[in-house]
Amino acid sequence: MKILVVEDEKEIADGIQAILRQEGYESDAVYDGEEGLDYIRTDVYDLVLLDVMLPGMNGFDILKTAKREGFKVPVIMLTAKSMTEDKIKGLDCGADDYLTKPFDSGELLARIRARLRGSGGAFSGANGNQLSVYDIVLDQSTYKLSHGDKSVKLSHKEYQFMEYLMMNKGVILTRDTIATRVWGFDDEGDYNNTSVYVSFLRKKLKFIGAKASIVTKKDVGYSLESDDGKEAT
Ligand code: CA
Repeated sequence: MKILVVEDEKEIADGIQAILRQEGYESDAVYDGEEGLDYIRTDVYDLVLLDVMLPGMNGFDILKTAKREGFKVPVIMLTAKSMTEDKIKGLDCGADDYLTKPFDSGELLARIRARLRGSGGAFSGANGNQLSVYDIVLDQSTYKLSHGDKSVKLSHKEYQFMEYLMMNKGVILTRDTIATRVWGFDDEGDYNNTSVYVSFLRKKLKFIGAKASIVTKKDVGYSLESDDGKEAT
């Protein structure tokens, strides 16, 4: 799971990121409205936590613009205490939920889980940590990928990559999007790692005997598909 935090008060943003990290969520933080919108447009996030009062562009305008442009990422607005009008306005602009500052970590995580359940990538299991797609299961808390009773542990980046593929099963993900999602924006050198990591993950899928496989889409990227006789290339 990758979450975008758009919040200009750095202390709050840092605090949110610390909570997210503890819970196993990846996150990026930006402190300016226009930059926030640019990040949303990369379309690599599963959820956005969006402050209202921001330099550059306010949260409502970011939300309206992103929704108008067709981005479907769930958005939770972070509103100041007692600003009831802000809540209503946020929901009118297309926010999925709102959270009144200050909030505690339990409340934040409960709202996030509720929103993520409503989106495509359905984590389930006793603690909401397991993602099941085709014949494989990925565990967010242990980084284990399993098929039946065989399992293998993934590295941090392998996990990010696999989770992204599983949440978008059958969808072609471009190398660019994968690189941005897994390695972030600053790490240009890691762009070519996508093919290396695909080979790591294929070995692990083979090891656990999964029929699900990562299929190369020539000159475009990859998609996770279930083996129906076609050989992954
Ligand atoms: Ca603010």
